[in-house]
Amino acid sequence: MGGCHSYARTRKAVASTKRVEFSEIDGHKLKNNNTQAVPCLEEKPYLLQGYVSECIANMDIRTLSVLPAGLNEAEWMASNTIAFFKNINLLSSALSDFCTTKTCPTTRGPGDVTYYWSDEQGKKVKCSAPLYTDYSMSYIQELLMDEDVFPTGAGTAFPKGYVFLVQRIFLYLFRTLAHLYWVHFWDVVQMDMHPHLNTLFAHFVAFGQQFQLLEPAETAPLEDLISALGSYHGF
Ligand SMILES: [Zn+2]
Repeated sequence: MGGCHSYARTRKAVASTKRVEFSEIDGHKLKNNNTQAVPCLEEKPYLLQGYVSECIANMDIRTLSVLPAGLNEAEWMASNTIAFFKNINLLSSALSDFCTTKTCPTTRGPGDVTYYWSDEQGKKVKCSAPLYTDYSMSYIQELLMDEDVFPTGAGTAFPKGYVFLVQRIFLYLFRTLAHLYWVHFWDVVQMDMHPHLNTLFAHFVAFGQQFQLLEPAETAPLEDLISALGSYHGF
């Protein structure tokens, strides 16, 4: 997972992300040595030192996010957005057995906020978490494959409103991760996936902050986690 940028930005790569297997996730897994709960953290186990301190690799996440010299910013955003989509979709798919219409009849996030899907008429719709995730991933995949939004031809200009659409993608990806932290963290731990989740989330948030792709109001409920990951992993 450390090689987010190793994903080729191709239509084929984007199209093949829906049915990836959990076994495709690899990476060095560290062991927990300190996972004792303290009362104030009962509702936020992801803040426990034994969990929040774990990542799959020691990476300079800030440096990973900075636009490399000589690269076009829109292109850099596109390649990273595709990589984040692939990795977050992969992680979410790995947890899909735990996130069902029975366990998650609504889509809850940090602070027990309910996420509503906006339908084509802009009407807010309450739906189960698996359906919300399905809507999100389908919406994102459609955008990523739209040549008018994410052109693949060399030198082709990105459209007006491009950054707004990337922000929409980041909103849905953030909510996908936020739901995993808030509702399924013990499931994540059970699968020993928390180092992956932490690494992916830290990189995703650092990149989002670097290019102002995430609304502070949206990320505020997980600010304690973002701060804790930053202090442990230096971003
Ligand atoms: Zn769920």
